[in-house]
Amino acid sequence: MQGSTWQQQIAQIPAVNTHTHVYSHEQCQPEREVVAYLQRLYLGCMLPFADRQAAARVADAQRPDRERWRHLLTLWPYVKHTGFGRVVRLMFDSWGLRGELSDAAYDLARERLEQRSPDVSRRAFEAAGITHSIANVVGHSEREWESIAEFLTGRFPMDPAFSHLLSTVPLHTFRTSADIAQLGRVTGIDVTSLRDLERAVDVVIEGAVARGIVGLKNHCAYRRGLDIGPADPTRAEADVAALLAAKGKPVAGTVGLSDALFHRIIQRAADFNLPVAIHTGMLAANAHPRTNVALLAPVFEAYPQVRFDLFHLNYPWVEDGLAILKRFPNTWANCAWTHIVDPHAVVEFLRRAIGTIPVNHVFGFGSDGWVLPEPGVAHLAIARANVATALAGAIEQGHCGESDALEIARLWLHGNAMAFYRLPSPPSAGSATT
Ligand SMILES: [Zn+2]
Repeated sequence: MQGSTWQQQIAQIPAVNTHTHVYSHEQCQPEREVVAYLQRLYLGCMLPFADRQAAARVADAQRPDRERWRHLLTLWPYVKHTGFGRVVRLMFDSWGLRGELSDAAYDLARERLEQRSPDVSRRAFEAAGITHSIANVVGHSEREWESIAEFLTGRFPMDPAFSHLLSTVPLHTFRTSADIAQLGRVTGIDVTSLRDLERAVDVVIEGAVARGIVGLKNHCAYRRGLDIGPADPTRAEADVAALLAAKGKPVAGTVGLSDALFHRIIQRAADFNLPVAIHTGMLAANAHPRTNVALLAPVFEAYPQVRFDLFHLNYPWVEDGLAILKRFPNTWANCAWTHIVDPHAVVEFLRRAIGTIPVNHVFGFGSDGWVLPEPGVAHLAIARANVATALAGAIEQGHCGESDALEIARLWLHGNAMAFYRLPSPPSAGSATT
């Protein structure tokens, strides 16, 4: 087996988990229900594609977990070869269950889940070689304002293995005056104008920088799309007035305000030399043309000094993503999540990336999960295999030698993210408060 040595070495390379929605190993706690646990992985959103009715029975939390398991087994043969299915198989492998879901496996899986603990999680990440994780929790999801308030006041639970991004969507997408009031509450600014809003956005970003964020994150692809227009203060001011006048009622079409504040946020990233991570391409359950990174070209052009980390390879429009990566030196490609959305597409992308963009412009792994540690570890195994396959192709075609391939793998899995996000090496124990 020629090449097995360098491939085995790829398995030993340390990795940075560039994207996750968990913030601490303390979140890993015993679970009692196997299906309820598996439903929280991406497998859950894949099941309805196999059979809607059976998937609804699996998802029905009112039914006993064991019964839900039996319905899951009927769907398993259809989904086990997908990237999401592979994650589950690798998890079951790691539990000594040989990767197969079966009637007999239920009790053993449950036993493993009951043994979960922060220590188990920490050790699993260490054994997998994950040295750092970049958490996308502050300002994200349903606790967006609470988490920002906690982070700015030092009450957010920190874990030395995790660095933080600040999600900026709540800072530039306002649907009602209540959203504006939240920003006012967190910053202590009485917001009555665009100027006040800008000041409040500055206060949040400055405060988060002081608390040690390593970058900004934007996932407005989910909320309004990536068609960011130029900043127009007159339009933005009119939107603020409309929102405040509606007194809590939703106001549609305040994109003028959203555009203006988006530019303000990117300008602050420039001021603080903070990288900006952006969700591009497919959403969790949808691929809409408004999420195509091609729409952001004017932004990349306007801020050449800001470094952009383009999440998920703009999948399924990988070609458009490559066009952006070729055109703008301030853009980087991030394979987070894509490894399990479409494993082959990532191999294909990495093969092309070797010939098209510098090897220091790719981040090879991000688990993009909500659960510690099993899915992240399994995801990394898939990422390593994809990296190895892509590099094996390059070696075979004579584009690089084995030692070059190893060096590229080191950059993709670890070195690039360490440098780009200026991560401490080793993770700083000083920030631990839990
Ligand atoms: Zn994510």
